[in-house]
Amino acid sequence: MRLKDKVAIVTGAASGIGKDIAQTFARESAKVVIADLNLDSANATAAELQKSGATALAVTMDVSNEQQVNTGVAQVADKFGGVDILISNAGIQHIDPVVDLSFENWRKLIAIHLDGAFLTTRACLKHMYRSGHGGTVIYMGSVHSKEASPLKAPYVAAKHALIGLCKVVAKEGAAHGVRANVICPGFVRTPLVEKQIPEQAKELGISEQEVIKNVMLKETVDGEFTTTADVAEVALFLAAFPNNALTGQSIVVSHGWFMQ
Ligand code: NAD
Repeated sequence: MRLKDKVAIVTGAASGIGKDIAQTFARESAKVVIADLNLDSANATAAELQKSGATALAVTMDVSNEQQVNTGVAQVADKFGGVDILISNAGIQHIDPVVDLSFENWRKLIAIHLDGAFLTTRACLKHMYRSGHGGTVIYMGSVHSKEASPLKAPYVAAKHALIGLCKVVAKEGAAHGVRANVICPGFVRTPLVEKQIPEQAKELGISEQEVIKNVMLKETVDGEFTTTADVAEVALFLAAFPNNALTGQSIVVSHGWFMQ
C-alpha cells in the first residue's frame, strides 16, 4: 500500500507502459485515472481495475488539447479532491529521415510529447501547490532522451526536451513539495514498438528480425527487451519516494543499452 489514497493521473494509460503503471499503482492502493485519447480502451482498463477492487476513473484526454487537459484534470480534482501524482506518458512514434519528414508530422509528434507534458504538468501543479502537501511528476522519456537514432528526429528532440522541462519543474516545485523525474526506457514491446519494426525494416532495407537484433537490442548487455513491468516498478519507486532528495533526475531502464 505504498501509494495509499494518492490520486494518480496516468496519460496514455489505455495501452502499453501507461497501462502497466496504472495497474501497478492500483495494486499499491492509489486512486488511478486512465487519461487517454482512446476512451473505449481507457474505459476497459478502468473497468478491469475496478473489478479487482481498485478505485479507477477513465477520462478522455488528448494531451495536446489545452481545453481537454484542463477539463480532465479539473474533473479528477473535483471527484477525488486533488492530484498527487502525474505520469506524463502519452506518446507516439514517427519513422522518417529528416530530409523527407513533413512539417505536419514533426508538429504532431512534438505537440503530443512536449505540449502534452507542459499542459498536463501545468494543470496538475495548480492542484499540487494549492493542496499544501505537494506531489510528484514523472515524465516518460526514453533512451532517446540521451541518445539519437536515425529516422526519429522529432521523437529524439522531444524526449531530450523533457529532461529540460523536468529540471525546471524540479527547481520551481521544490518549495511546494513537488518533485519531478524522468524515466528513460529502452525498447519495450508495446504497440508503439510493434508498429515500427516493419517500418524500420522497410526504411533500412533489412528483415524484421534484423531490426530487433541489430537495431533495437544491439547495444543492450543481454539482447533483452525492457518490459512494461520493469518501467512500472521504477515509476512506483519514484512516486513513493518520500522527499526532494530524488528530484530533477533521469533514470535509464534499458538493459544497459545506455549507461550514464
Ligand atoms: P502505446 O502505443 O502502447 O501506448 C500509448 C498510449 O498513448 C495509447 O493508449 C494511446 O491511445 C495514447 N495516446 C496517444 N496519443 C495521445 C494523445 N494525444 N493524448 C492522450 N493519449 C494519447 O505506447 P507505449 O510504448 O506504452 O508508450 C508510452 C510512452 O513510453 C511514450 O511516451 C513512449 O514514447 C515511451 N517509451 C516507449 C518505449 C517503447 O519501447 N515502447 C521506450 C521508451 C519510451
